[in-house]
Amino acid sequence: MRPLRRYHITTFGCQMNQADSEGMAGALEAMGLDRTDDPDQADLILYNTCSIRDHAEQKVYSYLGRQAQRKHREPHLTLVVAGCVAQQEGERLLRRVPELDLVMGPQHAHRLPDLLEQVFSGSQVVATEPVQILEDITKPRRRSAVVAWVNVIYGCNESCTYCVVPQVRGREQSRTPEAIRSEVISLAAAGYREVTLLGQNIDAYGRDLPGITPTGRHQYTFTDLLYFLHDVPGLERIRFATSHPRYFTRRLVQACAELPKVCEHFHIPFQSGDNDILKAMARGYTHQRYRQIIAMIREYMPDAAISGDAIVGFPGETEAQFQHTLELVTDLGFDQLNTAAYSPRPGTPAAVMDDQVEEAIKQDRLQRLNQLVSQTAAARSRRYLGRHEQVLVEEQNPKYPEQVLGRTRGNRLTFFPGVIGQLQGKLVTVRIDQANAFSLSGSLVAAVA
Ligand code: SF4
Repeated sequence: MRPLRRYHITTFGCQMNQADSEGMAGALEAMGLDRTDDPDQADLILYNTCSIRDHAEQKVYSYLGRQAQRKHREPHLTLVVAGCVAQQEGERLLRRVPELDLVMGPQHAHRLPDLLEQVFSGSQVVATEPVQILEDITKPRRRSAVVAWVNVIYGCNESCTYCVVPQVRGREQSRTPEAIRSEVISLAAAGYREVTLLGQNIDAYGRDLPGITPTGRHQYTFTDLLYFLHDVPGLERIRFATSHPRYFTRRLVQACAELPKVCEHFHIPFQSGDNDILKAMARGYTHQRYRQIIAMIREYMPDAAISGDAIVGFPGETEAQFQHTLELVTDLGFDQLNTAAYSPRPGTPAAVMDDQVEEAIKQDRLQRLNQLVSQTAAARSRRYLGRHEQVLVEEQNPKYPEQVLGRTRGNRLTFFPGVIGQLQGKLVTVRIDQANAFSLSGSLVAAVA
């Protein structure tokens, strides 16, 4: 057995990866390892990778190269690559970086201790075959003591032409409502006040769960899950991500409006404001349908916060088509938007499309879109000025220790003067005095709970 004292995890990419990293950190701590933020101090380094963008992938290779060199001097060092790059590259990763001990796809995150045992008995291990998700009994080590992520569905059955997720995370597999509820109950009992329910396509939740409808009337859906979790004692807030416009229902919006713990924040990627590009992406909806969804949300919850994802420079995108994306952003007024220049991912249909857009054009469009997003986000933020907002206090502001930080129900990061020891995990009312594009600051009016 190698002498293992400290582990380090660097996580790239989405919240699903963050949640997997928390699970793997919990497993490593159960094995007696302590966490370190400095990879050079660690005996076990795990990179939980993302292959959505080329940039993140290249970063992994550069970090890995450094640690592979270190392994020549310190042979006991254990190197693990998990996540989507691991799934996509598999054995090829070992050929590229022979110093690696373990390559494991996202479906294997819950098997880390077993896989490490194989490593410690002298093997180099590649675990990328599709698996049936089993209930994970390890306790995640969560970064926050107040808010937690909970996976409800793994994988994705869509086939968006730019995306590697279906290849790397496999078919949809919903966890049972009972398993999710018992995880949420233990989180609430441990003091967590907010959960974010996660899935690549959360609206697909339940469609692979046959025969469990208690009433026999309809297929169990994500909306049913919200009702099922809502009364968990001690839980104050429920969020969820990511929604797919194609599956978004009025019943879900009504449930969000009706259930007080469900926060009025919707993360619904639209990707492009142009119907031909949406078709080439195989997204399965039009910009008109997307606009209708946002209008429906605002009909029930006029103050709801809306965020999304958008890609610029998809193959064949003309300037006029890009303008349609700008129009959509201007018309709908997003609270936040994750933007990206299209980056071809190996093995996806869009990567081999003929009319790839030049890098300089993509970057120019990205800059113009980001500028517009800052303006719309700032305009949306200003509506909070002078208002009394409910904030769940999460932690001390790392930059200004005399302040604490938390989030409004609409997910705006909010800072105000306070002592974390007295306020952490509390729902408080904050008067908003300053509104920046993506954050707010103010002063404490009252502690609510
Ligand atoms: S819905 Fe599309 S973009 Fe989202 S994970 Fe599935 S294939 Fe990828």
